[in-house]
Amino acid sequence: MLGLHTHQPAGQETTLPTVSNTMTCPGCGESVSMDMNICAYCRRKITFTSVKDVRGMSATDSMKFLRAYKDALATNPNHPAVQMSLGLMQFDRGDYANALSAFDAAVSHGSDDPETYFYRAVSRFRATKPIHIKVTEAKELLELLDIAISMNPLPQYNYVKAYLIRRLIEKKGIAYRETSSDAMAAARAEHLSDADIADMDALLTT
Ligand SMILES: [Zn+2]
Repeated sequence: MLGLHTHQPAGQETTLPTVSNTMTCPGCGESVSMDMNICAYCRRKITFTSVKDVRGMSATDSMKFLRAYKDALATNPNHPAVQMSLGLMQFDRGDYANALSAFDAAVSHGSDDPETYFYRAVSRFRATKPIHIKVTEAKELLELLDIAISMNPLPQYNYVKAYLIRRLIEKKGIAYRETSSDAMAAARAEHLSDADIADMDALLTT
């Protein structure tokens, strides 16, 4: 049997450079681990996974979180959860172009969270006026949603997919392998609620 055991000579183990994994908690100012989603001191959330989590945050808090994320990423840019949180804050502030960069960074640094793909698609849609989104871009955007759906077939994802197919493909009279009705049927099959629709409409249009 070959290749089952590879022994490295003593003293030649590769050591990864140590990267600072701490950030300042935006809530209380303590130094906390970027890998925790709740602060051990003030018990407030440090990182977020949904725009709903950051909606309604005061302007002061929003600025505090933005600054804490940017500072943390300046020393450790490879942290997908912090990149994701930064993207959500920027998305909520209507800064879709920077949100898109943050979600892109989260994906390239190994985020395998379907939400990252989902928000990447939505922020890309919001960053440009629909009329200026080319068909090739529209299809790339729908591919991102399909990745999110393949990881977790949430009714919300399929609802957004239906909206984007309608808005970016069907409205322009272009042929596509799926219709908005197909995507809506998939959303309904996963029990799409009125609350889901309201949440998604807010992401897409307000
Ligand atoms: Zn704290």
